[in-house]
Amino acid sequence: MSSSNKGPVIIITGTPGTGKTTHAELLAQESPVPLKHINVGEMVKQKNLYEAFDEEWQSYTVDEDKLLDELEPLASAGGIILDWHTCEIFPERWADLVVVLRCDHTKLWDRLEKRRNYPLKKIQENNEAEIMEVVLDEARSSYPQEIVVELQSERTEDLESNIQRIMQWIEAWKEDRDLA
Ligand code: ADP
Repeated sequence: MSSSNKGPVIIITGTPGTGKTTHAELLAQESPVPLKHINVGEMVKQKNLYEAFDEEWQSYTVDEDKLLDELEPLASAGGIILDWHTCEIFPERWADLVVVLRCDHTKLWDRLEKRRNYPLKKIQENNEAEIMEVVLDEARSSYPQEIVVELQSERTEDLESNIQRIMQWIEAWKEDRDLA
């Protein structure tokens, strides 16, 4: 990180349904430094950053080059939360902190079942991905281990303690910059 007054880039990742958006929204509200929440899936839809829409899976095939071009200036400016179910496409240099949310797979199933137009095969795929720790493995193989944090997101108390923990990290990060 070169510039001293640039805000952090925090990636919040995890299997769909683990609570990324819930965490990102709360963190953006409570953070002691300004953080803009970027829901990457929504951005892909709104800015047409996809190659196609797959009817069967009800999901977009992302145009990764376009997405990275769109995000590059935001990541360079800093002060953002990237909320997405995958993280390995983001360059290592972007990330200051990578939070991987985890949830018991039966609980995850119940959450995903409540989503409208969410195909059963997608619930099954995500359920399996959570059991196999796919996103955690991806985060660990893409970023230095000291910036990857795995957090449980099963109950409201988890949400609150996770946000507290991330805020403590931000405070420490801020102090490091102020002293630099
Ligand atoms: P994601 O962005 O990872 O797909 P969401 O933030 O949309 O997940 O959360 C999915 C559902 O699970 C929402 O109904 C949300 O309220 C609930 N949820 C997420 N995290 C928690 C938590 N720690 N405790 C209780 N409910 C949660």
